[in-house]
Amino acid sequence: MANSEYTKPLPRQLEPELTDPFWEGTKRGELLIPHCSFCAEFFWYPREACPHCLQPGWEWVPVSGRARLHTYTVVHQPAHPAFADDVPYAFAVIQLDEGIRMMSNVVECDIPNGLEINMPLEVVFDTVTDDWTLVKFKPLVS
Ligand SMILES: [Zn+2]
Repeated sequence: MANSEYTKPLPRQLEPELTDPFWEGTKRGELLIPHCSFCAEFFWYPREACPHCLQPGWEWVPVSGRARLHTYTVVHQPAHPAFADDVPYAFAVIQLDEGIRMMSNVVECDIPNGLEINMPLEVVFDTVTDDWTLVKFKPLVS
């Protein structure tokens, strides 16, 4: 649910022409990851050329949203005052089933007792404003 009262810092796109498809995907509930057209590897973060084979041809491909908790820290001192009501929260490195790792938050989880390295996760899309839908992860309930 978009919230016009949202006051937290939002992502600042350094190269919007490169990253807009990712953010447009999140608005549709799709997690899109760069996939190399030459060597067929996924990679993260988006950049001009594939880091595996250095070829420039790649495309945004929807992925499963299934992941594992690679590592995390529990934040008790918010880095920005706007997050003061969120502590403690989990700042995590997430390993997607497709192999790439990205930083995100683990939500809908008891922090810290519900966190366990390698626990299965799935993506959730947090629509914080009309323009921004953030990617977060929650425990996968099988
Ligand atoms: Zn490649």
